[in-house]
Amino acid sequence: MRLQKVTGFIVYGFPLGEADQIISCFTSSGNLIKFVAKGSRKVKSKSAAAVQLFILGEYVIYCGRGLPILRQADIIDSFSPLRRDWAKSGAAFAAMELCRLLIAEEARETQVFKLVMTYMLHLKTEEYDPIVFDSFRLKFAASLGYEMGFSHCAQCGNPLDSGWLHWPAGGAVCSRCQGRNSPPVNKENLILLQALSNQSFSQLQEQYSPAQAVAATKIVDSLINWLTEGKTKAQAFRSLFERER
Ligand SMILES: [Zn+2]
Repeated sequence: MRLQKVTGFIVYGFPLGEADQIISCFTSSGNLIKFVAKGSRKVKSKSAAAVQLFILGEYVIYCGRGLPILRQADIIDSFSPLRRDWAKSGAAFAAMELCRLLIAEEARETQVFKLVMTYMLHLKTEEYDPIVFDSFRLKFAASLGYEMGFSHCAQCGNPLDSGWLHWPAGGAVCSRCQGRNSPPVNKENLILLQALSNQSFSQLQEQYSPAQAVAATKIVDSLINWLTEGKTKAQAFRSLFERER
């Protein structure tokens, strides 16, 4: 028997047959793994609760031929305060979606795992703040090697007073380096983006106006759209819950 024990977040569940699911799990070793959770869509299933989205759990899987099979599942943290709050669960779903879309199977992205853990724990105790969510997304991209610069032109290195956003170049660029479709970004937003990149979640919590949050969201949405090649669905979902607040 080839049994393996992993710790991780459940980032996706895909229905398989009548009662099973194919589960995607982002593990503490920074990899995305898939396994079959048999019977997990049955009401009385023991494993059903442990393979819900954004559960942090310990999973024993049997690796034979084909996809690994879940043998045992234990919940470490169900993040229940997030499940009772519409905005917080929306943010957690979006975080899991980023893992599903951007983490490769053998990626070893342990820094990203730590970042996701830090953000999930932050959401447990603090109110949902869109600025913190955008900081999480910027840092997520940076951890994957897409660190964006907002103080100097990403192309020629000249200091920026205002600029144009050009993600393939690595952040904001100057007037000489801007591409054909680069949207402009003013000084205030460049400073805001630097703060989101560099300050901790608790430093950023409740420090910014709704107008600044809207500006940051628009910019970070465009970064995530570029990174995921437009595959994200959670962003549209987010606009629903933010309007409700
Ligand atoms: Zn330049």
